[in-house]
Amino acid sequence: MQLYSTKNKNLRVNLEEAVFKGLPTDGGLYLPLSIPKLDDTFFKNIHSYSLNEIAFYVSQALIGDEIHEKDLKLIIDQAITFDAPIVQVEENIYSLELFHGPSLAFKDFGARFMAALMSYYLNRKNSQPINILVATSGDTGSAVGSGFLNMKNIKVTILYPSKKISNIQEKQLTTLGNNVTALEVEGTFDDCQRMVKQAFLDTELSQKLNLSSANSINISRLIPQSFYYFYAYAQLSQPQKPLIFSVPSGNFGNLCGGLIAKQMGLPVTKFIASTNINDVVPQYLDSGIFTPRASIQTIANAMDVGNPSNFDRLQELYSNDIEQIKNDIVGKIYTDNQIKAAIKSVANRQHGYILDPHGAIAYMGLIDYMVDSSNHSNIKDANGIFLETAHPAKFYTDVENILGRKISIPDSLIDVMQKTKTSINIKANLNALKEFLMH
Ligand SMILES: *Cc1c(COP(=O)(O)O)cnc(C)c1O
Repeated sequence: MQLYSTKNKNLRVNLEEAVFKGLPTDGGLYLPLSIPKLDDTFFKNIHSYSLNEIAFYVSQALIGDEIHEKDLKLIIDQAITFDAPIVQVEENIYSLELFHGPSLAFKDFGARFMAALMSYYLNRKNSQPINILVATSGDTGSAVGSGFLNMKNIKVTILYPSKKISNIQEKQLTTLGNNVTALEVEGTFDDCQRMVKQAFLDTELSQKLNLSSANSINISRLIPQSFYYFYAYAQLSQPQKPLIFSVPSGNFGNLCGGLIAKQMGLPVTKFIASTNINDVVPQYLDSGIFTPRASIQTIANAMDVGNPSNFDRLQELYSNDIEQIKNDIVGKIYTDNQIKAAIKSVANRQHGYILDPHGAIAYMGLIDYMVDSSNHSNIKDANGIFLETAHPAKFYTDVENILGRKISIPDSLIDVMQKTKTSINIKANLNALKEFLMH
């Protein structure tokens, strides 16, 4: 597999290098040099494939002969140990439930695939230990931490914004122990993300430590995020209808996974980029101008991103042609009050479906697009799928307040809540991070 930097098409690396480097040194992002189309036989048979079979075909097409079939199957089976069912919420409206992994959020797909891939490469050549750095707005940290937990030769450092993630999210990432350390940063998620980026560009650090990133900027996080778009399609009973995906977006890694699936031949009519009031991408789709800014806190906190790290990838996937981007992607923006209203109203309908705050945004984006007749889309003749990225119980305080009643909490969450938090407090600057890493 050949990858290039979005800042320089001539800078080429293979998958192994892209996975361990995380970011090219020129400050761009890695993307596959070519995105192959899957053949007709794959799409003809897709409805009989399991999630792991789909994952195999998709990743094999992308990765090619860099990893042997047999090893790729093992990597997939190590990473994807849970299902991603579509659940009907209303007529022609489905929730693609991506929260059945260990951290109860969709980031388990990317994090576990990356962990399995890295450990495959490390074991193959007995290389020196690596340090994984990861900034989290809530869900990445626990997914990465649990994905790498107890893996030999790998140390994981998680940076999270103090007091800006939910109680459960904090417990999930500060109670893992062993090779996983949580740094509690006095700042925002954007500060954490900036510190990680700076650490990679710091020559002293990169000379002394074998650093690697685990954020959604890592290409190995992106690849598995295309699998479940195919799998959602595979589960539809009337797949011939126009297909619309609504993606609750923050750093836009999840949406980029969908764009790759489309380029590989998945017949997607439209993507809805649904955001909270951190709406720089919907604003860009509207005005053509991208203006990153500081993030604002919302109840869909995993999407509180003011400078989406995958934005260059999104543009590059369309050769920077905004007209083409607008043709495929529609932006929708929602406030906390709208999120609350949606959670309440959907729970009180026929199917009694309980949304989490992130999924609620995607649900609204989907419905608002599908009922708008100016889109030439008729809700009766389409399949609308919104990505439900977290289990509602991860946000039970908010969700229970909104519904005015208790919701059921999975046993794994009850267990983690009873554990004691262990974190190290640091200031929001590179020196503080270096101080920790070098000692
Ligand atoms: C990370 C996250 C998102 C946003 O995904 P991006 O790939 O950053 O756009 C949405 N919902 C949940 C629950 C998340 O954890």
